[in-house]
Amino acid sequence: MEKVAVIGAGTMGNGIAHVFAAGGHQVSLIDASADFLEKGIATVTKNLDRQVAKEKITQADRDETIGRIEGSTNLQAANGADVIVEAITENPDVKFQLFRDLAELSSPETILASNTSSISITEIAGCVTRPENVIGMHFMNPVPVMKLVEVVRGLETSDGTTEKVLTLSKALGKTPVEVNDFPGFVSNRVLMPMINEAIFCVMEGVAEPEAIDTVMKLGMAHPMGPLALADLIGLDVCLFILNVMQNDLGDDKYRPCPLLKKMVAAGRLGRKSGKGFYDYA
Ligand code: NAD
Repeated sequence: MEKVAVIGAGTMGNGIAHVFAAGGHQVSLIDASADFLEKGIATVTKNLDRQVAKEKITQADRDETIGRIEGSTNLQAANGADVIVEAITENPDVKFQLFRDLAELSSPETILASNTSSISITEIAGCVTRPENVIGMHFMNPVPVMKLVEVVRGLETSDGTTEKVLTLSKALGKTPVEVNDFPGFVSNRVLMPMINEAIFCVMEGVAEPEAIDTVMKLGMAHPMGPLALADLIGLDVCLFILNVMQNDLGDDKYRPCPLLKKMVAAGRLGRKSGKGFYDYA
């Protein structure tokens, strides 16, 4: 089993730590904030308890899985890891600096993976001396449930790194899909314009959010409507990704809907703030 370090214990990071630990890997879960780290580990525990209650795993599985996760607020805890998966806040400069630090503290063989939704893997790799070891490992939310891992190859990512990540993802029970590094990859390149268009429909009064989501659920067999999904992802995250795609692809067809900008400015971020297109109070 590989020794894994996950950086960032937020929505995605704690889920990623959960699946690696459940897959038998020793995991260092690292967050800059002790508070977020504690919340992240509490979330993993709560999700494992739910799986025990549903008889999906045994109490012993739960105890072993949680026992494999060690939390830390010190980046040095990633030292000695075979694979490091970064899942910190979607801020390019902060990520670039983190990868410089990780490249310094890790061994020449360590795979440096990013869970970024929209930042270029090639650009992240450009910050380190071993760009061939850098790859995108784009898990979906909620990580323990969703099968897909979008495996994103940067321009310099080696075949060896890609093969290892594909094998590792399959061993976690996930289905990896290999894609090349372009803004939004495949997942967000296709998803975000749909969400954006649904928001334009709300803004122009084409229909109410419930009606739009019902059309997409019953008419297109989507398990969740685009507006409910936007609330789950976070409206700030959707806005950020659309901005990246508009800028980096140089095409105004990705321009974020003014209503999306307005909602984010008002702090209506979806589930995490208690209000988005729906009320979660
Ligand atoms: P989040 O805000 O829930 O968590 C981010 C965590 O990173 C926080 O706990 C924060 O304290 C920590 N952090 C920030 N800077 C740090 C640093 N320098 N060192 C250590 N820890 C640091 O964010 P999230 O939603 O989990 O997103 C994480 C990444 O995953 C982003 O790149 C995002 O684009 C991507 N992503 C998100 C989703 C989603 O649905 N939320 C889906 C796929 C990918």
